[in-house]
Amino acid sequence: MFRPGTDEVNVQYEDVLCNFCHQPWDPDDPSRPLIEGHHGSHLCGECLSLAYQAIVHEGQNLRVEGLPCSMCLEQRDDECWRSAEFPDVCLCRRCIKQGATALEKDKEYTWKRPVSANAPASAPAIDHDEESDDDSDSCSV
Ligand SMILES: [Zn+2]
Ligand SMILES: [Zn+2]
Repeated sequence: MFRPGTDEVNVQYEDVLCNFCHQPWDPDDPSRPLIEGHHGSHLCGECLSLAYQAIVHEGQNLRVEGLPCSMCLEQRDDECWRSAEFPDVCLCRRCIKQGATALEKDKEYTWKRPVSANAPASAPAIDHDEESDDDSDSCSV
């Protein structure tokens, strides 16, 4: 979506808002990319992570009868995700999956789909910003 009052002939990055959290696009943040949907709808990487976690890993379904997916504009029988903050928009499972696949392929971004808490940590190549000197291998759970 676009910020109300956006100059259509001169759209700025900060005029482009995620439909699901209304945060503006920050092109300098490679971890929060924006995916474009139909009719100027947008989905940020942060919301995609939340949606992926809820729908794919936790099996939630927040679908409302009659509310089409904001990205593909289809009313599907798939599970849908809605944010608590803006429950009038929803995102279908297919768009979540497609978005995740597309973003992971895009080398400009560092976005990675969330890993299930129950899944074995097979790919530990994640940058940790916070200092953690804990690389002991003695954690057998
Ligand atoms: Zn968002
Ligand atoms: Zn969709």
